[in-house]
Amino acid sequence: MSEDSLLGHALVRLDEAATHLNIDPDVIEKLKYARETTQVRLMIRMDDGSRKSFLAWRCRYDDTRGPTKGGIRFHPEATVDEVETLAFWMTFKCAVMNLPYGGGKGAVQVDPRKLSKAELERLSRAYIQAFARIIGPDRDIPAPDVYTNSMIMGWMADEYAQIVGQAEPAVITGKPIALGGSLGRGDATARGGYYLVRHLAEDLGLGKTLRVAIQGFGNAGQHVARLLAADGHKIVAVSDSEGAVRSEAGLHVDMLLDAKNGGHSVITTAGQGGHEILPAGDLVGVDCDLLVPAALENMVDAKNAASVKAKLVLELANGPVTAEADEILAKKGVVILPDILANAGGVTVSYFEWVQNRQGYYWTEEEIHDRLRKIMEREGRAIWNVSITKGVTVRTAAYVHALGRLAEAIEAHGTQSFFTS
Ligand code: NAD
Repeated sequence: MSEDSLLGHALVRLDEAATHLNIDPDVIEKLKYARETTQVRLMIRMDDGSRKSFLAWRCRYDDTRGPTKGGIRFHPEATVDEVETLAFWMTFKCAVMNLPYGGGKGAVQVDPRKLSKAELERLSRAYIQAFARIIGPDRDIPAPDVYTNSMIMGWMADEYAQIVGQAEPAVITGKPIALGGSLGRGDATARGGYYLVRHLAEDLGLGKTLRVAIQGFGNAGQHVARLLAADGHKIVAVSDSEGAVRSEAGLHVDMLLDAKNGGHSVITTAGQGGHEILPAGDLVGVDCDLLVPAALENMVDAKNAASVKAKLVLELANGPVTAEADEILAKKGVVILPDILANAGGVTVSYFEWVQNRQGYYWTEEEIHDRLRKIMEREGRAIWNVSITKGVTVRTAAYVHALGRLAEAIEAHGTQSFFTS
């Protein structure tokens, strides 16, 4: 794999973590490559009777610690490199949270906004038909990601049940509640990040009222805005794929949510309640205490990192800060709560959903929130302590924390399980 690939860049963090642990080089060799990645072409019938085909992938990166787990992304620019990188991050994320899973990911190269609902359903079902032998409740468990949601997971779970001839709710998480979805899954990613910031607030020297900028206003961005605003923090800027708005006095979160629920961009709120248009590229450099990237990868890079004014970055998106930007931010004293910890609330509640599906007994929303908070605080605290004792960034500490667990599991299997001698 090229060092210039997304995965090549992600592996820099693995190498860095390895320097802080005394582990067998075979462990690192194993973690440098995806175990299996399958590519298919999905053929579907469009509403006008024509046929179209879409590239699709499912990657099972590493299953040392359990069945692989990871979302399915529908995006026009999805690539195999991106899928494998996201699956690599899932491997580390599940280890960070001590969930009994390995890492996986899937994608379809498609702009779902250009499909009708019926076409989207045919595409979602085609994905499961193609990958039914790869996924499974004890093998590989998909979930939603960018531009996929609970409705799509519902269709996918239904297609899988038809193929195997029985209901298997634990094959997919993020399902509608009516099909065995978990309470609390909707806002789990944002809520996990919110619990983490709240728990470490004193260590991070945060004030009572934070000024917050959020990049991306989908599932993760909207819920974190709502949770932080409810605690009295001020959301001073937000963006989506069409542009950004700002207000020094604080944006009206309800107005932003109404716009999104109505299928409109956040920029349609400009001119009301003190909301002003902000050039989208300026969001990262907005004057604020907390920057929350909640869109896509590589949004904070070597070009714009120097403009960051926030003292704290909460990575709800996966891989939003490049390795070069990481160094620039570290030199500026900006603390980053890294993706594999900060957005792990999503996979943690997905795990709760899988557990509930398997036991056929469902928990209350309060129980979900309480269990999620405890795990975020437990792993967040452990990682914070590694960062202090080793004098490394929180990101390196998170990788060290996860790599220790992965190494222990790989060694426990016995290296001959992976390499023929
Ligand atoms: P989503 O599809 O609900 O929202 C994505 C948002 O990003 C949309 O508002 C879109 O308009 C915006 N966006 C796209 N390109 C942009 C750009 N160039 N500038 C600004 N905004 C842009 O997706 P989501 O589920 O909220 O996921 C967002 C990020 O969080 C992704 O990196 C995803 O992998 C990560 N994540 C999500 C979950 C989850 O449970 N939803 C869990 C872990 C990580």
